[in-house]
Amino acid sequence: MKTNTASSQPGSIIDPFGRTISYLRVSVTDRCDFRCVYCMSENMTFLPKSDVLSLEELDQVCSTFVEEGVRKIRLTGGEPLVRRGIIWLFERLGRHLKNGMLDELTVTTNASQLAKHANDLVTCGVQRINVSLDTLNPDKFKRITRWGDFETVMLGLEAGVRAGLKIKINCVALKGVNDDEIHNMVAWCGKRGFDLTFIEVMPMGDIGNETRLNQYWPLSMVRAELKRRWTLEESDFTTAGPARYWHISETGGRVGFITPMTHNFCESCNRVRLTCTGTLFMCLGQHDCADLRTSLRDSKNPNALKHAIHQAISHKPKGHDFAMDRRQDAVSVDRHMSVTGG
Ligand code: SAM
Ligand code: SF4
Repeated sequence: MKTNTASSQPGSIIDPFGRTISYLRVSVTDRCDFRCVYCMSENMTFLPKSDVLSLEELDQVCSTFVEEGVRKIRLTGGEPLVRRGIIWLFERLGRHLKNGMLDELTVTTNASQLAKHANDLVTCGVQRINVSLDTLNPDKFKRITRWGDFETVMLGLEAGVRAGLKIKINCVALKGVNDDEIHNMVAWCGKRGFDLTFIEVMPMGDIGNETRLNQYWPLSMVRAELKRRWTLEESDFTTAGPARYWHISETGGRVGFITPMTHNFCESCNRVRLTCTGTLFMCLGQHDCADLRTSLRDSKNPNALKHAIHQAISHKPKGHDFAMDRRQDAVSVDRHMSVTGG
């Protein structure tokens, strides 16, 4: 069904600013087995399970997006691999890779459960994954993640490599925390053939006693520091995500920078985000959202979901306006990243 003004041709969703929506990120659970200091407070209240879409419903929403032109799906969270039965969803979505409707199915994970799932992910058609890792120091790892275990993550990464997954490491740049490790991180990733992306900390959700202003470290400074030791050449490599990549001559690897705070990348935004309750966020940094669950469950109208998707995207805002300054160390967006999906 092509019901509304936002859609200009079959199988495509185009927003009011002419951007084609081809990338869906899905937070399959808001729960996590870690409590990273920049992401969550130690005492989190999670959604009641009854509010969360079933795996069958998630398949249905994702598959509708695929019919409407989405070419890439990333499952994230919370920690996606802690959701019971999650491999079933990967298997289901894998059918769209086989029939050519989807270019990529991927996942962002903390790797705590990767040793268990790496082979299954590959069987389902996953080729590349993002693993979040902010430090190579086991004690610091414990301080950052509060509940994580460094060795388990290392075993997960090893299993991922053995299974044939291409791995990109996501590292949130945290002033006074991992600023002494960035060169080591580049060398470590280079040696293992992992790409590396640095991320600026974003003001999302209450994180208890921590303050983000203390954690915030602009990536322009990270890049300047890296250039003191490594030869960085700008690269036109892209993953359909917001990172800008540089080639590192010495390691042969790539380093990317996601800079929502210092550089607004919204003009090329091709993505929307679905929460595990079926709420669609058109922008990570805005409050505007649309409920897809009601349409999904509207058994009388089989086209209601498609209509709701197009309607929602016809309201996609031009961009976000995250802000971080001394007067405003408050949260810009009250949702945690784990709700909308990083
Ligand atoms: N649990 C998985 C993981 O950590 O990879 C997936 C979900 S996590 C929310 C996705 C990404 O968001 C991670 O790379 C994490 O470092 C990042 N993230 C979480 N909170 C953030 C914040 N406030 N600012 C910037 N990045 C954040
Ligand atoms: Fe969990 Fe990922 Fe958030 Fe860390 S960043 S608490 S691993 S959801």
